[in-house]
Amino acid sequence: MNFSLIVSEKIGPTVMKFGGTSVGDVAAFERVFHIVSTQIDKRPVIVVSAMTKVTDALLNAFETAKKGEAAKAFASLEPHFERHTAVASELLPLVGPNAFTNELTYAREELEDLLMRVARRSLPLSMLKDAVVSYGEQLSSRLLAEVLKAKGINARQVDSRRLIVTDDEYGAAQPIWDETEKLVRLELEPMINDGEVPVMGGFIAASKGGETTTLGRGGSDYSAALIAAALRAKELQIWTDVTGVMTCDPRICGDARTIPVLSYDEAAELAYFGAKVLHPKTIKPAVDYKIPVRVCNTFEPDAVGTMVLAESGEVPNKIKSIAHKKNITILRITSARMLGSYGFMSAVFQVFDRHRTVIDVISTSEVSVALTLDKTDSLDSVVAELQRFGEVEVESGYAVICVVGEGLRASTGLASKIFSTIEDVSIALVSHGASSVNLTFVVKEDEAAKVIKKLHEEFF
Ligand code: ADP
Ligand code: ASP
Ligand code: MG
Repeated sequence: MNFSLIVSEKIGPTVMKFGGTSVGDVAAFERVFHIVSTQIDKRPVIVVSAMTKVTDALLNAFETAKKGEAAKAFASLEPHFERHTAVASELLPLVGPNAFTNELTYAREELEDLLMRVARRSLPLSMLKDAVVSYGEQLSSRLLAEVLKAKGINARQVDSRRLIVTDDEYGAAQPIWDETEKLVRLELEPMINDGEVPVMGGFIAASKGGETTTLGRGGSDYSAALIAAALRAKELQIWTDVTGVMTCDPRICGDARTIPVLSYDEAAELAYFGAKVLHPKTIKPAVDYKIPVRVCNTFEPDAVGTMVLAESGEVPNKIKSIAHKKNITILRITSARMLGSYGFMSAVFQVFDRHRTVIDVISTSEVSVALTLDKTDSLDSVVAELQRFGEVEVESGYAVICVVGEGLRASTGLASKIFSTIEDVSIALVSHGASSVNLTFVVKEDEAAKVIKKLHEEFF
């Protein structure tokens, strides 16, 4: 075996991502310290979300400022500044100002100024929004770095905006991989080799022009996966408030169980169809570099969570998990004249393309096509354009349910078992076979919990 390969296998760092609930208060910061210190020999690189509820608060402040009420918007953030201060005063040395209190002072001044600009609309709002919302991760990463340092870990905060380069699609920026990879390696590798523990905010990045951008809600998982991929990490650990990816959302079924191993494909489908525990895009950079992803519980650090691997081992006739996504709108386009004709589907898709609207589930018949959307910002314009093709019906208040398991497409009798379990429920749309690992269908939103519970009882 080639020596350099042995070395790089041996020294690949472990990227550890802590979600918002994992840094919610003093006790949570203590838990993070404990988890990092027990794995210090794995050369940790830390990616952290904003303290829980802070991103929501920043977004609300932005909306308030947009209405012209900048002072009220700024005042609404005070309780959250205090939450940070409470952690700092409990866990950081008392003497003199420290790097965190300085950062908090700047953050307050900058946020006050930014919210004023929002009220005056002195810069494009989408740009200001990302700037405002980025303070959640700017503050949490600085605070965590200082707390770890105070407790004896050789930690240093690194501003993710210097490492993750994106396009300028504010609110949902796309990373530019080659540049990001280069910068991450250039900056972090020497630190790791010197025994330092980098601490970075997730979710935030910067465009080529240097403006702050964000990767979309829940995007810290994505940041962590990008860093793990760039560093060819040994493992990516996603630390959250549940023990791994479970057989369904534990908030719906109290008896949901941890799934020990999931394949990348299964995890991607689950994430896409609403299992919030992993952000959909998380999977991709890890898949590309074959980095194992482990999902663990900060509140039970010794419990074995879920490993996401290239292959999970196919268990025939076996459902692994049930995901769901609410707030789904169905669009039906009926056009006896057009549907069979060449180019019809492509014309329909182009409408969605133009309005940057993603279709989740699609089903066609002789004279109609039905599809589901979860973002309806451009619904009116989409419908107006689609009416050129035929009659368009819009029905809201649906939920997509996605049953996931490797080998599902090939297994006989499973679909009929699923539907006979819920035979009293009316199914609006079904999609099966597009991927080998999922069966997806759409029901009325108020029936979703009942459907999931029934299926969970039958299959787990
Ligand atoms: P974090 O702040 O750590 O990123 P999230 O709130 O984004 O955490 O994700 C964790 C939540 O995902 C859990 O509290 C749980 O309610 C929800 N969830 C939805 N589906 C699943 C599932 N199949 N397995 C585990 N958790 C799930
Ligand atoms: N803080 C961001 C959010 O709440 C990103 C994340 O937590 O992953 O969406
Ligand atoms: Mg999350």
